[in-house]
Amino acid sequence: MALVSMKELVEHAWKNRYAVGYFESWDLVSTLAVIDAAEKMDAPVIIGFNGGFLVNQERNVKENIFHYGAMGKAIACHAKVPVALLLNECEDFSTMVQGILAGFNGVMYTNDQGIPPQEVLTLVKRTVEVAHLCGVYVEGEVGHLPTANGEKEMGPMATLSDPEEAVRFVRETGVDALSVSVGNVHLLEKGKAHLDHSLLEAIGRAVQIPLVLHGGTGIDEGDIKTAISLGVSKINVGTVLKRVFLESLIDSFADPEVEHSNVHDLLGKGGKKDILSRAREKLSEEVARFITLLGSAGKKDLR
Ligand SMILES: [Zn+2]
Repeated sequence: MALVSMKELVEHAWKNRYAVGYFESWDLVSTLAVIDAAEKMDAPVIIGFNGGFLVNQERNVKENIFHYGAMGKAIACHAKVPVALLLNECEDFSTMVQGILAGFNGVMYTNDQGIPPQEVLTLVKRTVEVAHLCGVYVEGEVGHLPTANGEKEMGPMATLSDPEEAVRFVRETGVDALSVSVGNVHLLEKGKAHLDHSLLEAIGRAVQIPLVLHGGTGIDEGDIKTAISLGVSKINVGTVLKRVFLESLIDSFADPEVEHSNVHDLLGKGGKKDILSRAREKLSEEVARFITLLGSAGKKDLR
């Protein structure tokens, strides 16, 4: 299978009442773990990276978006299921343009810096004009998710999505899908957020395009199913994947055998002792669990 249009993937989910998962990766191993799960479950999937993280000024070593685009594209092209490639949560126009040039077929803008709504609208509209010329999907957001800080906590920027604002945003920008803030929380690991179903329903009815929920880690299973029935067609999962991966590494380091093993058995040979292979398997199991929950298992033919 090749890299498949992200619009096609998300709209197929929208019309067939399931959600396609965006499972955020950070390197080759984590990306392959997502593909392992999607292939095992015969599911369409969205792979990708966080644009804001890749260009983060505080990085010790600067990253090149083109490396990530090339890697993601190669992985997508060799997968046995339909795959789209997203540069998620970009914080400026230049990151999104680099993403498009690097081969991502979806970009998403997030306003983490408190830019006034009218400026955001203009920026996203400009992005859509460029992206659509290249066949690239654009996801926008109206409202802003709170970020959990250990426990549930609302950040100063957090606002719920407003249906009227959502309609205007979608009409004026031409985005392909809309991320909404309806009680979902970024980085929530303890407890579950509760979604405002009536708000979600009102937005879905008003905008008539696929909706996206970020913060998949902290959404209750029942809420996920209800959200899908109300028009959510893409769910982002990131936090729990990093947690599962880290826990596997911690377990490996606690294993007394590791200290006395040949380094090549621990890294690079992919056998039972390989700590990255072990973590890849754990991560893949978690992704497969979400694929089942989102209803995308068995949908690889997009029929
Ligand atoms: Zn997010």
